[in-house]
Amino acid sequence: MRVHELAKKLGTTNKDLLERLREVGAEVRTASNSVTPEQEEKVRLLYEEEARAAANPPAAPPPPVAEPETPAAPEPTPVEEPPPEEPPPAEPEPETPAEPIIVKNFVIVKDLAEYLSIKPNQLIAQLMARNIFASINEKLDFKIAKDIADKYGVVLEQEKKASEKKAAPPPPPPEEQVRAQDDAKEDLLPRPPVVTFLGHVDHGKTSLLDKIRHAHVVASEHGGITQHIGAYTVAYNDNKITFIDTPGHAAFTAMRARGANLTDIAVIIIAADDGIMPQTREAIQHARAANVSIMVAVNKSDLPAANVERVKQQLQQEGLAPEDWGGQTIVCPVSAHTGDGIDHLLEMILLQAEVMELKASGKGPAQGFVVEARLEPGMGPTANVLVKRGTLTVGDAIVCGPYWGRIKALISDTGTKVRTAGPSMAVKCLGLNNVPDAGAEFVAVANDREARKIAEERVDAKRTEKLGTTRRPTTLDDLLRQTDATEKKELNLVVKADVQGSLEAILHSLSEIKSEKVELNFVLTGVGNITENDVVLASASNAIVLGFNVASEGGANKAAKREEVEIRLYSIIYEMVDDIRQAMTGLLKPVAKETVIGHAAVRQIFDIGKTGRIAGCMLSDGRVTARSRARLKRDGAVVYEGTISSLKRFQNDASEVREGQECGIRLDSHADYQAGDEIEFYEVKQIAQEL
Ligand code: GDP
Repeated sequence: MRVHELAKKLGTTNKDLLERLREVGAEVRTASNSVTPEQEEKVRLLYEEEARAAANPPAAPPPPVAEPETPAAPEPTPVEEPPPEEPPPAEPEPETPAEPIIVKNFVIVKDLAEYLSIKPNQLIAQLMARNIFASINEKLDFKIAKDIADKYGVVLEQEKKASEKKAAPPPPPPEEQVRAQDDAKEDLLPRPPVVTFLGHVDHGKTSLLDKIRHAHVVASEHGGITQHIGAYTVAYNDNKITFIDTPGHAAFTAMRARGANLTDIAVIIIAADDGIMPQTREAIQHARAANVSIMVAVNKSDLPAANVERVKQQLQQEGLAPEDWGGQTIVCPVSAHTGDGIDHLLEMILLQAEVMELKASGKGPAQGFVVEARLEPGMGPTANVLVKRGTLTVGDAIVCGPYWGRIKALISDTGTKVRTAGPSMAVKCLGLNNVPDAGAEFVAVANDREARKIAEERVDAKRTEKLGTTRRPTTLDDLLRQTDATEKKELNLVVKADVQGSLEAILHSLSEIKSEKVELNFVLTGVGNITENDVVLASASNAIVLGFNVASEGGANKAAKREEVEIRLYSIIYEMVDDIRQAMTGLLKPVAKETVIGHAAVRQIFDIGKTGRIAGCMLSDGRVTARSRARLKRDGAVVYEGTISSLKRFQNDASEVREGQECGIRLDSHADYQAGDEIEFYEVKQIAQEL
């Protein structure tokens, strides 16, 4: 039996079950791994034990009994009692009545368990005792939920009707707070995963997206025509999945470079007859750089030349070992032509999403990103947006990049006008005052006035930025200057070389640079000229681009200028390695090293009117320069430390005075010299740290 099947059977989450299975020694990594009957038995016992413990909490100390006036009746002999149906209710705290938790006319099992601070399987066990067999994601009727909650002293209250709710809407926080605001834990609900298809050209990304869309798109009540709005949502087995409609890693990374991380799961599409091709490799690297969950669909499995096993072997070589080969990557053979395997792919996506526990709050001001935008005849500026959190509603005032507007209409992926769009949903949004960039963030704010104000501030800020006040450190020189003291440093690189052999030699030499403090991180490595895609990836990953015996294409140079990414071209490997070693060193904060260069004895003090006092000294050893730092010592203790404001030899300024010579010294803002003091001179040098 597979992990996810067992999870369903036991009424727990895949994640929880995976943990328990590991506890009982099973080597399982993902929800589609198999479980042996012995492991199943062990983990079942574990759950049963817990459920029993939950139903039978450790006996509380007996309540203090008032001294009986009459002899008490003989105590009944204790008998082994079956576990009580419900745990004894927790003592409500009398002085602070519990805050009611507002719920709809139902409560999801998982959420109720959270409200009661117990494990879902404990709750499921209690429900079973009431002859209710519910799984973790099932809805419970409000009455039942309330009944159980009451026993725990938790107050559940049903949400008020819309009319009552409208009475006093809390003013949404300003834009800056929206980002910082943490959604209340109880508001977080599972949201659909957002999936992007990546892979080599012609391996079937578009065909698969179309096939899935036609087979599973959420039916529109009004039978509208499907619209291309950058992303669409399908329903499968009562769950939803949102697919980004523009496949390929170029768009994927371009969005990321603008800060729009929309994708949860990247599905790498590989044609079963072709296998892994250069762009497949690139796609994998782009997905890895984005830190998203990676799955594989082997498409065109209907073709006679299809060889899924060969693809799995290649995946293994790329470090994406398939699950059935003991690895962690879910690999699904599919055919966009026949539709075979597509349901399985959707199931696996949902399974992966479940393990990832994707959640968002549908409450509060909406926030999300523009997937694409344009000017449409008869509609004005339209922005296809994907909501990350909150609920976007017609009439909301929104700010989007430097633009703003009040939402006039929302159109769903089925071409239907909708009033709202929640987390992970894509909608076309009408009402902005201009066309925003793809990847721009939008956020709903209190009112039009505020929206306009923030938008205007952003225009101003952008102007100042253009004047050169801010720049990202993506050139080697910037990196060399960057010296903040955070612990472990990373230098991100995109490396392109003329042939595989030189690429391997370069990677070998670079990884030979040993450092405990700086880590080299290869975001992408490949053969061929430097492309615009490479530069955009470097920008998204804050990396620099290194080319060996390759050129950078026109588009790449333009992108490098636009994104302020540095491209360095080399034809000698050791020069590249030297530069990188330097850059790595530059990432480390140099250490200050102090060297004592001399001492002077204070002989006599001269008062020179307004300008203060001067110490007449004799250099007892070493030397002093006008730029030395000094420490004034009296009886061995330091009484002042600072710089020298004047160094004179006979009335004249001196740049250096040596051992045995006399001089007049004035220290910054310090006039309290006494004959017999000693002045120690030293220099501070910034020394580069060893790697
Ligand atoms: P994309 O460039 O990755 O988006 O690939 P497309 O979806 O445009 O498909 C490229 C070609 O492969 C088209 O001619 C499709 O008809 C064909 N194709 C896509 N999926 C399949 C499949 O499952 N089986 C077969 N035999 N051909 C397919």
